[in-house]
Amino acid sequence: MNIYEELGIPTLINAQDSETRLGGSRLPEEIRQKMNEASPYFVKIAELEIKLSERIAQMTNNDSCLITNGASAGLAISVAGCITRGNEKFIQQLPSTDQIPKNEAIMFKAQRNNYDNAIRLSGAKLIEIESNKEDLVSSISRETACIVYFAGDFYESKAIPFLEVVEIAKKFEIPLIVDAAANLPPVSNLWFYTKQGADLVVFSGGKTLRGPQASGLILGKETWINYCRLNSSPNKSIGRPMKVGKEEMIGIFYALDRYLKLDHAKEKKSQENMLDYMIEKIEKSIPDVSLNKIYPAHHGQDYSRLKIEFDDSMRAKFYKNELEKGKNPIIINLSSDSKALIINPLHLEESEVAMIITKLTSLMHTKSK
Ligand SMILES: *Cc1c(COP(=O)(O)O)cnc(C)c1O
Repeated sequence: MNIYEELGIPTLINAQDSETRLGGSRLPEEIRQKMNEASPYFVKIAELEIKLSERIAQMTNNDSCLITNGASAGLAISVAGCITRGNEKFIQQLPSTDQIPKNEAIMFKAQRNNYDNAIRLSGAKLIEIESNKEDLVSSISRETACIVYFAGDFYESKAIPFLEVVEIAKKFEIPLIVDAAANLPPVSNLWFYTKQGADLVVFSGGKTLRGPQASGLILGKETWINYCRLNSSPNKSIGRPMKVGKEEMIGIFYALDRYLKLDHAKEKKSQENMLDYMIEKIEKSIPDVSLNKIYPAHHGQDYSRLKIEFDDSMRAKFYKNELEKGKNPIIINLSSDSKALIINPLHLEESEVAMIITKLTSLMHTKSK
């Protein structure tokens, strides 16, 4: 019996993605071990954070880093950093931005999403703009604190290209914040956006990095990271309620270290094999579905997912619901047209793949008879 079963809470098979509401990621055994080792001591949290951040910056080819409790906190703290710019009075008065000269955050209207309330949390006034260069340029004023851009295929397709935003941000000397929370792999994204000219880039620790669910990183330019740090725990600031524990700091540090050392080609190969195996098994058992690997993943990440397509959307929805029933609920995405199930290999283990195949094929047989 696992601890959740003891507590009467069913555990899930996550064929969907790294999602907060499903429990984030699965920590590798060695990372759990490190967090355990971190736990029984007292340390100066500010010192620990700075030491680890210095190393993370080096490891990721960045100037500087701040450890946060997630990408959302990273956004809130980044915007707060750009508004306050080291001014202690401003730091203490947030989220009120009265009398603070730069208090506007610009973002593309079409990129608005579930995470942008983190931007407003700082007290920033959100300036929504249309997806063209002219609108971006004309929205910039003396009140502009920052531009926030959401990276990855899904969001980038809704706005002007990242490099054009960089060019304008540079020209007008406006700090550019990039949300790349889930945009791994490739591992090079950890430095790609900063090298291209972003000032602050936020990542989730509890997604592909497989760190603690409540961890994240801001990577970027030293001046801006320092402004961020003043707005983050343990400093008395707007970021104080977004604190990161020592266990999480140690956890994300070693998770990142593990991720950087990982053989990504091998990882990818084993995911491909997993999907091929599923295709073979499902195909053999059920003839009237179309099975295809789709690439890249939702945000343009460098891995494939399996698309199981049916001729009518009722079937995909039916299977999705049925899979979520029973003792080991299997959580699977529907495609945007609701006609297909999408299996994400990121958090699946072999035994779980077998369970998915068994449940799916038995369901399909019931239905097609
Ligand atoms: C997941 C995600 C976040 C939130 O990340 P947390 O680490 O859970 O706070 C923010 N932005 C985007 C685009 C995301 O995909």
